[in-house]
Amino acid sequence: MPRIDRACSAYLIEDGDFAFALDFGTGAFANIRRYVDYDKLDAVVISHMHADHFLDLIPLRYAIRYGSKRRSKRLPLWMPPGGIDMLRSMTSVFAGEGNGDFLDEAFDLGEFDPAAPLPLGAGRLRFAPTTHFITSFAIRYERNGTSITYSADTAPDARVVELARGTDLFLCEATLLAGEEEHGGIRGHSSAKEAGQMAADADVARLVLTHYSQDATTQDLVDGASSIYKGEIAVADDHHILDVG
Ligand SMILES: [Zn+2]
Ligand SMILES: [Zn+2]
Repeated sequence: MPRIDRACSAYLIEDGDFAFALDFGTGAFANIRRYVDYDKLDAVVISHMHADHFLDLIPLRYAIRYGSKRRSKRLPLWMPPGGIDMLRSMTSVFAGEGNGDFLDEAFDLGEFDPAAPLPLGAGRLRFAPTTHFITSFAIRYERNGTSITYSADTAPDARVVELARGTDLFLCEATLLAGEEEHGGIRGHSSAKEAGQMAADADVARLVLTHYSQDATTQDLVDGASSIYKGEIAVADDHHILDVG
């Protein structure tokens, strides 16, 4: 859930003139406008179809459709496999608005192939499936040997570790409080300590903890991760800016 004055998952990556978002959860759109005009956003990539990771695509659609003055082409929107059908089914209640298809008017929709690299701007994306309650993908963006890897939502997973290997910045979820167990033992999230373990296993240069509980303090999160991972650790927050490379 969004905390007071905070958005759900969304990460804006600016690489030169190229700007794209990884995930676009509740509150993302208002936040991202501080840094990039939505007309200049070059792409959005969605890791998985949980509402906290994509719901602000709807206000973004309205902005592109009705507010946009300068955008000459539709916004490339990369969904996980099966994501387009789900988004269409959810937005079907808006059918009849605008002159054409509710989504196609604003977005150039595609589904990424998790098994293949996806060229994006001057760089590329790679993907790895995660351990979550629905199909979800960790995402690595890299250009000229510099990389950012985003865990999306996941329990500890060797495939995510492999994707993150040697990355400059590992943005890893830390949903569970220390000692918290998941319902019925079915895993779908990690603790800060487990995020630290994945960061250590992947030998990443820097760890940023994100997607954490509203009941976790910054100290709890750093303590959990630093018990295993000995590199630099930060805790993500809205409007937190990081330089990479
Ligand atoms: Zn999720
Ligand atoms: Zn989530």
